[in-house]
Amino acid sequence: MKQITTIKEAKQWLKSYQKKSLKIGFVPTMGALHEGHLRLISQSRAENDITICSIFVNPIQFNNPEDLAKYPRNVAQDARLLKNSGCDMLFSPTVEEMYPGDKQENLEMDFGMLDKVMEGKFRPGHFKGVVIVVRKLFNIIAPTHAYFGKKDYQQLMVIRRMNELLGHKVKIVACETVREDDGLAMSSRNLRLTIGERQVARRIFEVLCKVREKGTKTPVWELREWAIKKIQEDSSFRVEYFEIADRETLMPVESWGHKNQVVALTAVFLGDVRLIDNVELFS
Ligand code: AMP
Repeated sequence: MKQITTIKEAKQWLKSYQKKSLKIGFVPTMGALHEGHLRLISQSRAENDITICSIFVNPIQFNNPEDLAKYPRNVAQDARLLKNSGCDMLFSPTVEEMYPGDKQENLEMDFGMLDKVMEGKFRPGHFKGVVIVVRKLFNIIAPTHAYFGKKDYQQLMVIRRMNELLGHKVKIVACETVREDDGLAMSSRNLRLTIGERQVARRIFEVLCKVREKGTKTPVWELREWAIKKIQEDSSFRVEYFEIADRETLMPVESWGHKNQVVALTAVFLGDVRLIDNVELFS
């Protein structure tokens, strides 16, 4: 596996593949890789001629400096995992390489409400940072296919919209959420949970599944209130939001009228670790 840290070298390395019009699969990540990331890599390998993974802890998508400082980093171990999983190239640039000087990054794209609800509301500036970095990475790698997890459902929808606004140059592939045996969605942030927190963390997915089960038998508002209460029955949890939303627009729904297209999404603090998860309802 080739390891590259500069944009110039990455473009150079990719040139021969682009000339041959090969399928280039791309998996952008922030590292601290787990099975969830590796599943994206293997799907990309199955569907493309070469697979590129990027590892870049993007400072401009963190609205909380402590979250950025505490984000787990282990590029050497990640590189070993990627090599074993058959990834062809790892692009791991420095912050200076991606954002030279102190130039303000602009984003003149309109996402409507998509980047303003839920994660957008509670993490101001987050999606602006995500879109800037993914657009930049797409320009460098010029992939034919890019792989994103449904674990970050709203991010996936924002990226899809970005891609649409940029003229559908890349095929965006959505991958199912990979979970631990007890149902907890795999996340790099899980590493920050204490042993006790890790033991109770499955409650988030359990409640999401119960919501899926209860479905239309309960009014939306009541189900939402029930879910928040149920998660917070254990006092180590604090729910930031729990929404039942339209799968495409992510606008909260008030009734089960368009029941085939909704998703339940939540962000929960477990101790001081913020976890997100979601399940699609009625699929
Ligand atoms: P991250 O490194 O957290 O920015 O994630 C990089 C990519 O991996 C994103 O597209 C995530 O949605 C995806 N991802 C992270 N965790 C999981 C998971 N448990 N299952 C599936 N995809 C995931």
